Amino acid sequence: MQFNINDRFTKELPADPVLANTRRQVEKACFSYVTPKKTKKPEILHVSPEMLSELGLSEEDVTDEVFLNVFTGNSVLPNTRPYAMCYGGHQFGNWAGQLGDGRAINLAEVKHKNKHWTLQLKGAGETPYSRTADGLAVLRSSIREYLCSEAMYHLGVPTTRALTLALTGDEVMRDMFYDGNAAYEKGAVVCRVAPNFLRFGNYQLLAARQDEETLRKLLDYTIKHHFSELGTPSKETYLQFFEAVLTSTLEMIVHWQRVGFVHGVMNTDNLSILGLTIDYGPYGWLEGYDHHWTPNTTDSQFKRYTFGSQMEIGHWNLYQLANALYPLIGETEDLERILHSYHEKVQRQYLSMMRSKLGLVKEEKNDTVLIGNLEDILQLTETDMTIFFRNLSDFTTESPLEGLTIVKDAFYVPNEVSDSIQQKWNSWFLDYATRLEKENHTFKERKEQMNQVNPKYVLRNYMAQLAIDAANKGDYKLIDDLFKLLRNPYDEQVENEKWFVKRPDWARHKAGCSMLSCSS
Ligand code: AMP
Ligand code: MG
Repeated sequence: MQFNINDRFTKELPADPVLANTRRQVEKACFSYVTPKKTKKPEILHVSPEMLSELGLSEEDVTDEVFLNVFTGNSVLPNTRPYAMCYGGHQFGNWAGQLGDGRAINLAEVKHKNKHWTLQLKGAGETPYSRTADGLAVLRSSIREYLCSEAMYHLGVPTTRALTLALTGDEVMRDMFYDGNAAYEKGAVVCRVAPNFLRFGNYQLLAARQDEETLRKLLDYTIKHHFSELGTPSKETYLQFFEAVLTSTLEMIVHWQRVGFVHGVMNTDNLSILGLTIDYGPYGWLEGYDHHWTPNTTDSQFKRYTFGSQMEIGHWNLYQLANALYPLIGETEDLERILHSYHEKVQRQYLSMMRSKLGLVKEEKNDTVLIGNLEDILQLTETDMTIFFRNLSDFTTESPLEGLTIVKDAFYVPNEVSDSIQQKWNSWFLDYATRLEKENHTFKERKEQMNQVNPKYVLRNYMAQLAIDAANKGDYKLIDDLFKLLRNPYDEQVENEKWFVKRPDWARHKAGCSMLSCSS
């Protein structure tokens, strides 16, 4: 196994001088060197072929003992020094101080075909940032992270990637619902891959500590390597950098709204500086279209991170990032101007995304009303988002009143669709038909276009849970089946129609399917 190692983070940024792996506040540094924990009986359960080839590795490499050992933390690549990053963050709206990679260890940075990647193990043991926890991850959350990051990639949503899913052979104690029922679970490690794993919180922590020197080093580093098109760092470049982060963050969130993804923990330590979906914890996929839904039981009381609030939270988080950059910019006017542009931009992009879901190419003034009405009616009864939008591509302007029949499979409780709700639907379908008449495309063209933005298959919460239940019993086939299914989420896959169904009833209130906690 040969990598073109290209470590920049550790070479160019200040390191924590302490090498002992003890919990501590790490100041004037961006990271601490750590060594991954050796595991009892490592076993690779799955490898992403797409990521493998992105990294220039072959199928043959996978069978190599070195591959197994490196990606489970049992050996370190030659000439590399693994490290954990130091960052802080706002958790659920409150400043939490230093957090850091408590259970993520960066192995190395590699270059292949002009692309730069950081390899990171999640669940490979304690770091100085592990606080009261063990630095480990369990199989259930690792399967969820592994499958979802690659599924998101294939859906066209900016995301960190995953190379491997492995068992450690160790047992890990977890109290899944923080209710005193702790139990042993199988330990696992995922190798995540991204150009970098920097979060808003990396900059925030340095600003909070008034360590302008390190903050400037980190920001200049980020611009030099990840925003090089902006040129030599200066006050102007810092503003452009902020604008670029704002743009990519809102683009990412609009994609989430398109596919029905709810991140669940949009704390500032979980927002990537590259606008990548990062840290797949208690995330979930919308089943019934509902702006108030969150999969995260930790957030069930305050409902800060619901489907409908993600765009607004993006702004709140960017505001915190602006505060962190302020010391290097010295005036607020331009930062505020950029922040203010968010709402206008997000509305425009959201509208354009929703138009594409409805197969509308032209821009008409009343589209906002048509879309707003649809969002309201969708929430009157439990209506499956994925099935609704996918089936809507069969709608024809010739027979608008057949609309209800076309989308009927999306209703969870058909009896709930009362006469008055049916009337609302029919009236909406008539408006939709009138609006479609203004377009120039044929039925076939519209259907094709809609099916490229409305996925047929997503990682429904119960599907991941089925794969987890089987894996906990030693059967890993479903992980592979789902991985393959989700490689082509927009395609009709006749043999996989069984996954194009509403969430089964048994999953409605089952742990892992509709309720997830941060425990992982
Ligand atoms: P999260 O809610 O997963 O984004 O985690 C918030 C913080 O807690 C981050 O600094 C994580 O690295 C840390 N953390 C979460 N789980 C663990 C764990 N099992 N061991 C050590 N640190 C953890
Ligand atoms: Mg996190």
